[in-house]
Amino acid sequence: MENAATRLAAINANIARACKQARRSPDSVTLIAVSKTHDAPAIQPLIDAGHRVFGENRVQEAQGKWPALLEARSDIALHLIGQLQSNKAEEAVALFDYIHGLDRPSLLNALAKAMDKAGRLVPCFVQVNIGDEAQKGGCPIAELPQFLAQVRATPIPLAGLMCIPPADTEAAPFFAFLAKLAADNGVTGLSMGMSRDYETAVMLGASHVRVGTALFGSRG
Ligand SMILES: *Cc1c(COP(=O)(O)O)cnc(C)c1O
Repeated sequence: MENAATRLAAINANIARACKQARRSPDSVTLIAVSKTHDAPAIQPLIDAGHRVFGENRVQEAQGKWPALLEARSDIALHLIGQLQSNKAEEAVALFDYIHGLDRPSLLNALAKAMDKAGRLVPCFVQVNIGDEAQKGGCPIAELPQFLAQVRATPIPLAGLMCIPPADTEAAPFFAFLAKLAADNGVTGLSMGMSRDYETAVMLGASHVRVGTALFGSRG
């Protein structure tokens, strides 16, 4: 029977293989275990197996299950990978160690204020609307240089660029494009790749892959 720990080992091996093919060091890639919709008993086996980096997409859901898990272990890094509303900025800054959905000036202002108030700087990834999809979050590609300049004018550490490519289409060209945007704008981190395409993302330079289903099974 497959369990979360054996799946974790297999995914780490796949990442290591992709790194080798791409002539990259395996520790240049961070696997974010996306535990959204899964409860503490489902998460605990991964912690027991030594995994320390987790991702959630909703502030409220994370507030329900993570404080107890974090009390038992202080070395866990929690990433907020979903869209963030400005009115949740303070709560997000209090709980998360990284925020991936920074995509607009109003949210930047709210986060800068929240971090100042909390006395805690949380590194942020700037999400790019890489497929130029009307319904998706993310900074429009044409506005990226200007938005990055705004981010860099705050004390908020810029962790990198993040994208969610359009569904049901080959992700590789979008990953390559995000990597080019990062290089053009002097940004080093790249949060890209999910269960179905994380190896491709690693080949194309991902520093962070966000894997849920392949680790925890389907979200039902
Ligand atoms: C849910 C989610 C993931 C993980 O997706 P899987 O296909 O389950 O691996 C990655 N990134 C974001 C932003 C998500 O919301």
